[in-house]
Amino acid sequence: MAKQNAFRLDELSAIVTGGGSGIGRCIAETFAEAGARVIVADIDLAAARAVAESIEAAGGQARALAADVSCEVEVIRLFEDATAAYGNIDVLVNNAAIFPKKPFLEVDTEFWDRLQSVNLRGTFLCLREAIKGMKSSGGGSIVNISSVSSMQAVVHHNAVYNASKAGVNSLTRTTALEFGGDRIRVNAVLPGGIPTAGARAASAAIELKGPILGEGRIPLGGMGDVQDIANAALFLASPAARYITGQMLAVDGGFLVS
Ligand code: NAD
Repeated sequence: MAKQNAFRLDELSAIVTGGGSGIGRCIAETFAEAGARVIVADIDLAAARAVAESIEAAGGQARALAADVSCEVEVIRLFEDATAAYGNIDVLVNNAAIFPKKPFLEVDTEFWDRLQSVNLRGTFLCLREAIKGMKSSGGGSIVNISSVSSMQAVVHHNAVYNASKAGVNSLTRTTALEFGGDRIRVNAVLPGGIPTAGARAASAAIELKGPILGEGRIPLGGMGDVQDIANAALFLASPAARYITGQMLAVDGGFLVS
């Protein structure tokens, strides 16, 4: 393989959950540019369709599918429909998540269960369905989008989200161990603060207290961009990372070492 081709996804099929906006959209576009056939999966079908259409207009291959990752039936159907459309799924990016914030003492079980059902159960369900297929097709690569908040508390009112992303890290390590022998790699990208519409809305909804991901705490200075996360996801998904599994790659301008 030519050296630069190791960073491409030609002939591979990929599912990106939450691909209808923000980081997921950029990952879907970047993977399509790298040669992948991309399933843009989102609870918001109109948003997913817009992304798939723009990928196709740019000469790539993409289809939009509706799926709520917290719903077992919908996740099973997503993988069946994706396989029917594009054959074996070689790459999965678990990106869909929600991030409402609430002061810890106001968190009720409904809030806890809703957030964990999308961020943690959703990741588990997609991992399980992807791994089933990858085991029988001879391998694959999975990238979980976690967060620096899985490692540090970072902001107030975020305990439930932080716990969900710590769970994503644990699923990353344990599935990497369990399925390495099946040639299935599982890694995580831990974004720092990336100004997406979703992140802005979550932060605006509540008064933030205490330390935040401010520029003063980021050694490389300033916030990152969705493309920074997509580039890391592409590397981990691609054959260039063929000997890497079970890793947490922070893409945070150095925030975690500050
Ligand atoms: P976003 O809100 O802009 O996009 C999330 C997408 O997921 C949306 O298209 C939404 O419709 C979809 N989605 C939500 N619930 C879903 C469900 N149940 N099933 C399927 N799709 C669903 O968010 P973003 O900022 O692009 O974040 C993407 C990922 O990056 C998330 O995992 C988030 O936790 C992580 N992250 C983001 C930041 C940041 O600062 N933006 C920082 C760290 C980690």
